[in-house]
Amino acid sequence: MLFDKIDPRQRAWVEVFPSAITQNTLAIKSLLSDSCLLMAVVKADGYGHGSETVASAALRGGADSLGVATLQEGIDLRKVGLICPILVLGNLVTSEELDICLKADLMPTISCIQQIKLCQKIAEANSTKFNVHIKIDTGMTRLGCDLAIASELIYLIDNLPNIILKGIYSHLALADGESDNYAEKFTSLQKTKFEKFISHVADRSHSCCIHLANSAGTFLGKELHFDMVRIGLALYGYSPLKKFQNNVFLQPALAVRAKVTLIRDVPSNVGVSYGHTFKTKSPSRLAVVGIGYADGVNRALSGKISVLIDGKFYPQVGSITMDQLVVDITENPHIKVGSVVTLLGPDGKACISPFQWSSISGSIPWEILCGFKYRLPRVVI
Ligand SMILES: *Cc1c(COP(=O)(O)O)cnc(C)c1O
Repeated sequence: MLFDKIDPRQRAWVEVFPSAITQNTLAIKSLLSDSCLLMAVVKADGYGHGSETVASAALRGGADSLGVATLQEGIDLRKVGLICPILVLGNLVTSEELDICLKADLMPTISCIQQIKLCQKIAEANSTKFNVHIKIDTGMTRLGCDLAIASELIYLIDNLPNIILKGIYSHLALADGESDNYAEKFTSLQKTKFEKFISHVADRSHSCCIHLANSAGTFLGKELHFDMVRIGLALYGYSPLKKFQNNVFLQPALAVRAKVTLIRDVPSNVGVSYGHTFKTKSPSRLAVVGIGYADGVNRALSGKISVLIDGKFYPQVGSITMDQLVVDITENPHIKVGSVVTLLGPDGKACISPFQWSSISGSIPWEILCGFKYRLPRVVI
C-alpha cells in the first residue's frame, strides 16, 4: 500500500532508545541490595516512550515486575506476551474491572475492605486465587487504606480463602520535591509509620513483598528500599532531584525531533508568528520547523527554549503554534530544508533535558515526558 510507505520521520517523531532503558535498569540495580527487587513503572505508555518497548527493555536489564496505572495498560502488556508479575497501581472498583484483572493475571491495588471482599467473591466464582497488593496510606492522602483499619484489612485476608496477599505497600509524597526540612522530616515520618505498621502485622507480612520507594526514595537511601523499589523517572534517564545526579549514571531514553520545512530570509524589525511577540533585530534567517503544541511542545515555552541542530543550539522565536514553530538560524547558512532539529533529548554531545522545559513552563519532567502526543510516531532505535 502506498500509504504504508510514509516515513515516520517525514515531519516530527519521538526516537526511543531501549538500550538506554536496559542500561538504566542495570545502573539502578547496582544501588540495590541483592535481595531487593525492581519494579519498572511503565504507566502512561511507558512515560510516553511506548510501554511494550520500555517493558521489554527493562526486563532485559533485570527488572522483576512491571507497574501500570490502568487495567487497559496491563492488558496491552499481556497481549504482547509479557508474562512477568504486573501490578495495577490505579484503583479498580467495579466487579467487572476486577474480574478482567483476575483473568489477565494482573494484581490489583487494594485500598479498602469492600474491595478485598469483592476480589474474594470474584476469585471464588472463578474457582481460582486472586493475587493482590494492599496499599496503606502513610501520608500521601490519595490511594491507600487508613492506618487505623489497615491491620483489620490484612487480618481479614485469613478468612478469605481465595485471596493471596502478595504485597503491602505505600507511596512517598515529598521525596521528589524540593528537599527542605519539612520534606525530609515527612519522608522519614512516612517511613516510620510504614515500618511500624509492617512490624505490627509481621506474622502476615513476612511472606509478601514490602515496598515504599519511587525513584527519589530509591536514591535517598537503602533504608527506604524494603523488598522492592518502584522505578519510573530514573528508568527513563533522569534523576528526580539534581542532588542525586551523581549517584548513578543515567542515559536519556527519548529524543523529540522534527524537520526544517522552510527557510526564510527576512529583514530587520519583522514580527514573527502569532501576536508578533518577537521581532527580528537585524536581517535574519529563520527556519520553520514542523512541530507544535499539538505534538506536546507546550506553548508556554514560546521564545524561551533553544533547539539543537547538528549538536549546536539555536533559539526558538515567536509563539509556538499548533503544528509549527520558528527557529532563528541566522548564524548558520548550512542548515537546509530537511535538516533535523532536536527539541528534547540528546543530539551529539549536547542534550536538552525535560528539567529545562519544566522550569520554564511550571511543569515537572514527568509531565513533559508523557506529554508527547500520538501524532508523533515512536521510532525505536
Ligand atoms: C508513578 C509511580 C511510581 C514511579 O514514580 P517515579 O517518581 O517516576 O519513580 C511509583 N509508585 C507509584 C505508586 C506510582 O504511581
